[in-house]
Amino acid sequence: MSSVDDRRDVREGYRNGGATRSLNDSLEGEIQAFLIDEDQLYTYDDLTKVNPVTPATVLKCLQVRYSMKVFYTHAGCTLVALNPFQPIPDLYSLDVMKEYHYAHQPQEFKPHIFIVAEEAYRNVRGQLEPVNQSLVVSGESGAGKTWTSRCLMKYYATVASVSVVKSQDTVERIERRVLDSNPVMEAFGNACTLRNNNSSRFGKYIQLQLDRCQLLVGASVQTYLLEKTRVACQPANERNFHIFYQMMKGATDEQRKEWKMSHDQSFVWLPNSEKTIEEDCFHETVEAMVHLGINAERQGEIFRILAGILQLGNVSFSSSADESQPCHLDAKSKDFLQRAAELLCVPAEELQTCLIVRTLKAGKQSVLKPCSQAECSVRRDCLAKVIYAQLFEWLVTFINNSICADKSTWCNFIGVLDVYGFECFQTNNLEQLCINYANEKLQQHFVAHYLRAQQEEYVSEGLQWSFVKYQDNQSCLDLLEGSPISVFSLLNEESRLNRASDAKAFRVRLEKELCDNANISWDKFSKVPHFTVAHYAGKVGYQIEGMAEKNKDPVPPELISLLQKSYNQLLHQIFKDNETESQIKKGPGKTTVVSKFKNSLETLMKILHFTTPHYTRCIKPNPECKPLTFKKEEVIIQLEACGIVETIHISAAGFPIRIPFQSFLQRYALIAKHIKLGGHSVGLLVYSAFPSVALLVNMILSTLLSLGTFLTWCIKNKITNKICN
Ligand code: ADP
Ligand code: MG
Repeated sequence: MSSVDDRRDVREGYRNGGATRSLNDSLEGEIQAFLIDEDQLYTYDDLTKVNPVTPATVLKCLQVRYSMKVFYTHAGCTLVALNPFQPIPDLYSLDVMKEYHYAHQPQEFKPHIFIVAEEAYRNVRGQLEPVNQSLVVSGESGAGKTWTSRCLMKYYATVASVSVVKSQDTVERIERRVLDSNPVMEAFGNACTLRNNNSSRFGKYIQLQLDRCQLLVGASVQTYLLEKTRVACQPANERNFHIFYQMMKGATDEQRKEWKMSHDQSFVWLPNSEKTIEEDCFHETVEAMVHLGINAERQGEIFRILAGILQLGNVSFSSSADESQPCHLDAKSKDFLQRAAELLCVPAEELQTCLIVRTLKAGKQSVLKPCSQAECSVRRDCLAKVIYAQLFEWLVTFINNSICADKSTWCNFIGVLDVYGFECFQTNNLEQLCINYANEKLQQHFVAHYLRAQQEEYVSEGLQWSFVKYQDNQSCLDLLEGSPISVFSLLNEESRLNRASDAKAFRVRLEKELCDNANISWDKFSKVPHFTVAHYAGKVGYQIEGMAEKNKDPVPPELISLLQKSYNQLLHQIFKDNETESQIKKGPGKTTVVSKFKNSLETLMKILHFTTPHYTRCIKPNPECKPLTFKKEEVIIQLEACGIVETIHISAAGFPIRIPFQSFLQRYALIAKHIKLGGHSVGLLVYSAFPSVALLVNMILSTLLSLGTFLTWCIKNKITNKICN
């Protein structure tokens, strides 16, 4: 196998239009050399059937299938999902769901996300441990993760529906609410970016709770790191969170009056509002909020807070000629500030003071110090960010209270994980570092679970196995989070210092402390201090300027005290006993952004570890999101980044069916009586040791299994028909 660096260079070569080697020449050449019958390629439902398995043949197979409008392909233990970028009629219809759900062997059907869904669903009642399941959906931004997660949720809301058993009211209460959590969270947490019109700016793990009869009785959501900076600062040609545009476009005249926003008013924090996208659907969001139980009064409070944030964004500051005097506001800004104060229900004068004057505490005494123009803007942005982030958190808690079943009513769960994909922009900062770190953690889980553990198991079972090499990303994780010294530990130290961080000095420190790790590099002559991390999916340069401050995420205590005084009931409640305040008391840098994020990811990893994972790799076939357009250069980068070829090799050579020895023995001891069973823990491995009887036993077993499954299916169908009628 080529070295990590070689592979990365090749990838960069692809992206640069073939600087390292021409993709067309080399890959097509390989295809020719293998004399693969292209006409047959589209029939390969599983990439393990491609022979030989190389990046070129795998790519070709996917390309041919995509051109035939076949979007799903198995890759051994994972499913590859290519984004069609256009609605495909009947691909996700109720009839298709039923087809997969009632199938005797869904695996024998065409590859589909519903196979993964059904397999997880059957595993819950199966004998394999652990019974709880996790569906991990990964891929670049715009690859189709959120779409896939929604499909999975709809599938369970249909096949595990309580509706056939209980009254119509229950349907309203459970499946509907679970599904309605999506549009609400997407309105508040998604935004239109350069890569995706509906890009999720937060991570989400939703656990669908199943009762003893495997019916969906509730759900709970855990969210990760909302990109709150977007509220006050939108990257060029991108937009703020959808909800603001939805309000602007969908409000009635009465609401506009209440929110102090006229038709012709423009907002600094609402760039590109002339662009209309599918997600600008205020009424759907409001309807979903109603279903979740957010009453009209609460909604009024929420929208007034959001309108207040928009007004705040239009406030600007001018510095005074005398530096010892606070900045001042022109007449227009004063007007915007007045409106913001009214909407946020706080005294306007106090709001202004909080933004332009800092209170310094020296022992029991307080000293007031005027802020510079830049500091005033930072405080204004900080106020907007803290309000939005806390409002989002409140919303998630509310949704959880609305959809979560009582612990006594559910016993198992199926988790669906949809986290932001790997990001590499022109400038990358703390947000990208955290997002890419999350992707490294998930990749590590995949590597540990499929690529390493399976092979180790074969070796420990005494099977002949030639080890398939794979790209292990442990050294990158050591660099980012390792102990005692890592990028995160150094960043936390820097954030804890009670002074403004010096980017150049911090770069030198990173270099000195981490020079032994091959995953980090520097361009010493670059004017902007930065460091480059070689992630499993490619190299990313991170800008150091502002990183330590972002990590500190300081909120001036005066702002929190102001919000606590708000007579907007919701705002008051959110900040009443606020975590932000307790953090302030603990001191700056005690709970940094990276340490909080690292902790929440560790909890997630523990959950994943105790569930059976199912991986779906979403692939973005072209960067422009054009329907049915397949760009080889883009696809190959993504396939290589997730180690698809290695996965196929291991899956093809490995043993797909695994039954714990005790269960196997219990079930088949009768027919295996004359066979002296060894001490193996994987049933099928027994067969490989006795090739002469393998065929016969296999035939008997599959007949018995088919009969059993057919009977179960008949009984289930009969029961369902009875209930439906
Ligand atoms: P991600 O969450 O990976 O960033 P999304 O799930 O938001 O990406 O998908 C981006 C867009 O691609 C969607 O808004 C939708 O238009 C389109 N899309 C994704 N998956 C499908 C699919 N299976 N069928 C049709 N369109 C899709
Ligand atoms: Mg998404």
